[in-house]
Amino acid sequence: MGTAAAQDKAAQTPIPILAYHRFDPATPGPTTVTNAAFARQLEWLAAHHYKIVPLRAVVEGLTGKTPPVAAPAVAITADDGHRSVYTELFPIIKKEHIPVTLFIYPSAISHASYALTWDQLKEMHDSGLVDIESHTYWHPDFRKERARQSPEKYRAFVDDQLARSKSVLEDKLGIKVDMLAWPFGIVDPELETSAKRAGYVAAFGFNGGVAAPGGDLFDLPRIPMSNAAQGASFGAMLTATTSGKAQE
Ligand SMILES: [Zn+2]
Repeated sequence: MGTAAAQDKAAQTPIPILAYHRFDPATPGPTTVTNAAFARQLEWLAAHHYKIVPLRAVVEGLTGKTPPVAAPAVAITADDGHRSVYTELFPIIKKEHIPVTLFIYPSAISHASYALTWDQLKEMHDSGLVDIESHTYWHPDFRKERARQSPEKYRAFVDDQLARSKSVLEDKLGIKVDMLAWPFGIVDPELETSAKRAGYVAAFGFNGGVAAPGGDLFDLPRIPMSNAAQGASFGAMLTATTSGKAQE
């Protein structure tokens, strides 16, 4: 294949978005990746010439705002604002100069014992490597809330969760927030409409597979990461068009 053709093909190849939660020096869990397993994933990406790009670049490529990100590339995200993002992940990304997007629900910050503090978020953002975006205000299960609230109350509840998260993150950190990760990956057309109304430009689920141009910008797929995602199986996850598997 000629260089121009190779570049053309690379520009059309969807970019996988990896979704992490927690990190630990030694002990893996359902949503906890050990530092060693994360290091092996980074080594695999480097060995296969994957560039790690900011999530923003992927979204702007999908919307046509900028040229599409050239493959092979991945974006890295981490949800929920667990303290290990600061203690374990942040030192690694600083050393390796890796861009990461954090999806945060502000009610937990500087409040829950497991969660990051506002100072830690600010320090990570100031590094220039960490983008901070919304994961709603307190991480509700929208399916359960819809079942137990009147339609009017539920609608107001959704609007509040989406707007308050964005405004609190923007005020506390002096940033602009316009991307959203759906709690538990739960999303439907009504929620997508609410997200658009609240000023978001893209929202992310958990359905595996990769985000292709022309897809739904308010239910962009991400690939849930675990310790088991290594070697050939990790590589297969990055190229699968969809897994249909929903997780936290
Ligand atoms: Zn979450």
